[in-house]
Amino acid sequence: MRFKALEIAQNRQPVKVEFPSNKISDYYGANVFGENAMRQYLGKEAITAINDARTDGTKIDRKMADIIAAGMKQWAMSKGASHYSHWFQPLTGATAEKHDAFFEPVDATSAIERFQGNALVQQEPDASSFPSGGIRNTFEARGYTAWDPSSPAFVIGRTLCIPTIFVSYTGEALDYKAPLLKSLHFLDTAATAVCQLFDTNVNKVTASLGIEQEYFLVDEALYFARPDLMLTGRTLVGYSSAKGQQLEDHYFGSIPDRVMAYMMDFETEAHKHGIPLKTRHNEVAPGQFECAPQFEEVNLAVDHNQLLMDLMDKVAKRHHFKVLLHEKPFDGINGSGKHNNWSIITNTGVNLLSPGNTPLNNQLFLTFFINVIKAVDEHADLLRASIASASNEYRLGANEAPPSIISIFIGSQLTKVLDSFEKKNQDGANDTAGAIDVNKIPEILLDNTDRNRTSPFAFTGNKFEFRAVGSQANSASPMIVLNTIMADRLVQFKAEVDGLMAKGTSKEDAINEVLRRYVSESKKILFEGNGYSDEWVVEAEKRGLSNIKQVPNALAAYTTPKGMEVFTKNNILNEREIHARYEILLENFIKKVQIESRVLGDIANTNIIPAAIGFQHKLSQSAAAMKELGLPAESYKVAIDAITEAAGYINTIKTSVYKMVEERKVANKMENHKDKANAYSDKVKDYFDIIREASDKLERIVEDSYWPLPKYRELLFVK
Ligand code: ADP
Ligand code: MG
Repeated sequence: MRFKALEIAQNRQPVKVEFPSNKISDYYGANVFGENAMRQYLGKEAITAINDARTDGTKIDRKMADIIAAGMKQWAMSKGASHYSHWFQPLTGATAEKHDAFFEPVDATSAIERFQGNALVQQEPDASSFPSGGIRNTFEARGYTAWDPSSPAFVIGRTLCIPTIFVSYTGEALDYKAPLLKSLHFLDTAATAVCQLFDTNVNKVTASLGIEQEYFLVDEALYFARPDLMLTGRTLVGYSSAKGQQLEDHYFGSIPDRVMAYMMDFETEAHKHGIPLKTRHNEVAPGQFECAPQFEEVNLAVDHNQLLMDLMDKVAKRHHFKVLLHEKPFDGINGSGKHNNWSIITNTGVNLLSPGNTPLNNQLFLTFFINVIKAVDEHADLLRASIASASNEYRLGANEAPPSIISIFIGSQLTKVLDSFEKKNQDGANDTAGAIDVNKIPEILLDNTDRNRTSPFAFTGNKFEFRAVGSQANSASPMIVLNTIMADRLVQFKAEVDGLMAKGTSKEDAINEVLRRYVSESKKILFEGNGYSDEWVVEAEKRGLSNIKQVPNALAAYTTPKGMEVFTKNNILNEREIHARYEILLENFIKKVQIESRVLGDIANTNIIPAAIGFQHKLSQSAAAMKELGLPAESYKVAIDAITEAAGYINTIKTSVYKMVEERKVANKMENHKDKANAYSDKVKDYFDIIREASDKLERIVEDSYWPLPKYRELLFVK
């Protein structure tokens, strides 16, 4: 199987890509019911209704919904759609769709195409098997989806997809989008109120998000020869390739032809669907790549990223690739993340995180910048929880990935600015961004923040970049937390400033006084050094920052009184919803580890051990033959030694798999999700490394032709 797969992979040629036109602008958004399509298929009133819903959250009535649905159907059918689907994001992380046909039979031989307002606005998918954390019993399977007009509908294949939220029949959110929309509204209100202290023209604040998406590509034939990749998304065994990423020759290197064809193909699909992809490059690890769109409003950016992951997966099939979105598909080299670049921008066009040339004297910037720092310091554990998953756990704290400690990097210039601000001097005032002077080259401005790739949360010029987010995560999860804690902070900030002003302090002094206190209270979260170093772990502990490594412990932050309060008090999630989410996430973790453990046991018993025994058999036959020939014992000592060494590893694997299964049995009997998750995390998972180590040692001594699974060196270097 392995050699057959290798041969197939090696003979692959780049697939020819068809472009609808040479200019992306000719087909950008062609499959989206956006401005152009609306103008063609809807009247003025309907367009205004949708736009008002988008900007101010105004409700669309049923009559208007009928009109919009009719236009949408006309447009979708012109794009070849025969079905429609509410498209939503349940807590499993993927997107969900259930397709219904437009067509309705009139009698035995005739039918019409129909799509009315009520089908656009609301649907009741029989969602009994979506995780609901106990909110919905399976016998009362009534959750419903409701149209989100702020994210435009699109056609994919032959289906009109309508972005929706997903709630239980009692009104509890069972998805990512509903609380995300609430958190964005909350941030808008809170940030607008603070902006009004500076400029009364501001009446809306929008959060923006640009998501850099990292991924690996492997050849499909090799992928299918690795049951672990197929079933868990990562390699559970595999000895590292002699050449990995140490030469750093892959990073920003030229893109292999087959990969280039794939990238252009999925970018074209993305562009047709209105996803503004702009950037593509190789990443650090061999076989690893990245793409990034132009940033957009958060809700749209999240929807687009979810859709993008789908498209990447679909298009990969045409190119005989498998795209790996798992955070850590390979041990010993970099994992993949989804860097979330976040900023907040006013309706007057001001990026509130833009420092300008003189940040020390830019009170508006300092207000928002310092409040982010304070919010992250206060709720670091919630941010940690928002990115916790079974798969991201393998990445955090491993090669070139931020550790489980949440800290903020702001760069040397802004460090000086904050220092001067706190101490009330002007030392940091004139330390503006420098310029590089290279002969013949036009002047290049230096970014006023140096790049520190080791920080989980870094200020990069005019935005914060949350890098600890996992590559297959739904970005809504960290965004719900970030928007909420920031908005909550701004509300408190405003109250404190108002309080001081009521006592007669001037506005400017009041703002500075509160901000100065925030800097001194929260500067422990700022860290400029190497986040990958062991020293930082020690230093962080001294500062009292948490370093939560296990997923079940990380998730617990949602259910602490402090964690709950920030959501409940601000109507983002109620207690039942939080508990349901927590249970769902724990259950998801348990299932993921359980599957990995089963797959590992299977390949150990049915692939690895038999391969090693086969090899032992060959060696023993050769040793026996030599002995029979009367050769001295030292001539077949190598064979005997290898047999013995292999026997040691085989025994380790065999007994560890046995013990792992026993631990699984114990864990599976536990009723309480938290105990069960802990048992999987502390007991079952412990055997993964032991089994892997023995298997990887075997891989190094077993004759190459006996090894059944494609090796790292074969998987990683895609052509
Ligand atoms: P890199 O971090 O790899 O150098 P860039 O700085 O070009 O990449 O940007 C990465 C992502 O950040 C892109 O999606 C980009 O659109 C987004 N981005 C840039 N400016 C902002 C902003 N003000 N708010 C949110 N996202 C932004
Ligand atoms: Mg970046």
